[in-house]
Amino acid sequence: MTKDKLTKKDVELIRDDFFSNIKSKTSKEIKKMKKLANSKKVCLKHQKRLFCLECFEPFRGEEKVRISKGFKVITCSCGKVKRMKLVVSC
Ligand SMILES: [Zn+2]
Repeated sequence: MTKDKLTKKDVELIRDDFFSNIKSKTSKEIKKMKKLANSKKVCLKHQKRLFCLECFEPFRGEEKVRISKGFKVITCSCGKVKRMKLVVSC
C-alpha cells in the first residue's frame, strides 16, 4: 500500500498507534508522522503536546515543565519554549 492510497481513517489509526509509544520514537520518525498527518489533514490534537515542534524530539519527562495562568509551559532541551492551554481544543 502506498501513501497515496491511505485514507484519512488509516492515517488516524497510524497516528494513534504511533503516539501510543511516542517515547521510543526518534525526531526523524516524528517529523515523518507529522508530514503524513498534514498531508491527509489529520489533526494531531493532544498528540502535539507530546513532542517539540521545533526539534521534533519527543518529551520524555526530562524537560522543565511549569504551570502558569492556565498554561502548561514546557522548555525543551533545544531551548524552545512551548506554551499550551490546559484545555485541549483541536
Ligand atoms: Zn526542542
